[in-house]
Amino acid sequence: MVKTHRDGGPATPEPTSPGPAPGPADCWVFDVDGCLVDSLTGTSLRPGARAVLEHLAHGGRRIILWSAGGDEYARARAEQFGVDGLVSAYFSKEDRDGDGAFGTGHLPLTGSRAVFVDDRPEDLGRDLDVLAVSPYLCDDPHDRGLVPVARRAGLR
Ligand SMILES: [Mg+2]
Repeated sequence: MVKTHRDGGPATPEPTSPGPAPGPADCWVFDVDGCLVDSLTGTSLRPGARAVLEHLAHGGRRIILWSAGGDEYARARAEQFGVDGLVSAYFSKEDRDGDGAFGTGHLPLTGSRAVFVDDRPEDLGRDLDVLAVSPYLCDDPHDRGLVPVARRAGLR
């Protein structure tokens, strides 16, 4: 007895590359102002930021900083707080799309599972994996805004 397909055509092979395998994010894209650095004065690194960045970098995860202030601004902030050695690359936030979301086409994310950490999640595309944090406005040693990020990163 011959087995036939419904349409009578040749058997369709199973897809061999269904996309990236599920797993933890291997690339972390951080906003700068109001996320890692206080947005009012730019003089304080958010509590927990150094520990999270160190944990991710030492775990082999790629760290990207991007900012509406530009890539050089993001780099300067990282250098200011001595975390630049943990960061792989810096980019600007640019080219908002029709919905007002910043484009990510210029970020080197091909083949990566990226998570975006930002205090303004409304600025990011709905198709992205976004971890929203409360805005870090001024120097506050009691700020706990990065606790969910540390948890997602597997730090605690
Ligand atoms: Mg921000």
